[in-house]
Amino acid sequence: AGTGKFFVGGNWKCNGTKESITKLVSDLNTVKLESDVDVVVAPPFVYLDFVKSSLSERIEISAQNTWVGKGGAFTGEISVEQLKDIGCSWVILGHSERRHIIGEDDQFIGKKAAYALNEGLGVIACIGELLEEREAGKTFDVCFQQLKAYADAVPGWEKMVIAYEPVWAIGTGKVATPEQAQEVHMACRDWLKKNVSAEVASKTRIIYGGSVNGGNCAELAKQEDIDGFLVGGASLKGPEFVTIINSVT
Ligand code: PEP
Repeated sequence: AGTGKFFVGGNWKCNGTKESITKLVSDLNTVKLESDVDVVVAPPFVYLDFVKSSLSERIEISAQNTWVGKGGAFTGEISVEQLKDIGCSWVILGHSERRHIIGEDDQFIGKKAAYALNEGLGVIACIGELLEEREAGKTFDVCFQQLKAYADAVPGWEKMVIAYEPVWAIGTGKVATPEQAQEVHMACRDWLKKNVSAEVASKTRIIYGGSVNGGNCAELAKQEDIDGFLVGGASLKGPEFVTIINSVT
């Protein structure tokens, strides 16, 4: 792990029922979490309020997306103001499922990040390459272009956490090796140093996501530039998610 406080986020995606989420919350409420870790969970919108009111305050709440500006006549959208109103403090933006399935582009995601940060939310800003982009040797180009779109838009970096999530590793069981992840994390930190500032490069947490589980987290967490994890599937299992949180080294 790097020098920033370890950060572990659980992205529940479009999963769960009131029954399964009640069980997950109760599991998370009864375990001991390492104190030196920021822990955040991102339930589906419809359960945010329920989770906020039943989950221990030790764990913060994140949305998985938000509208790009102030609320109003935008059917089906949820605004930053509404998220804040129910006690949500983070939002995941730029997740590969929103980029590649829903079609959100870099500029739209950058605008969302800027609006959320300006309103005081923390942003878990996702980046990551497709398998064909990795195979074509374009991993750094893709990640740097996505980072640039955030850098061009955001007002500051204090509440930004970068999540490097190679798309080929998300939900596939094919985790990046610790060396593969470290290589990209280090390159992104270097990009931040050259293009934003040395201070932002050293202070911004860069977390890894993509098939992280209870068995592979410890080796990944040892890498110098891995400051935590964004966890999908394994965050739906309370005890395994706790193992990942407590893998801080
Ligand atoms: C994610 O969706 O952010 C993710 C990393 O998913 P998984 O852990 O299931 O690969």
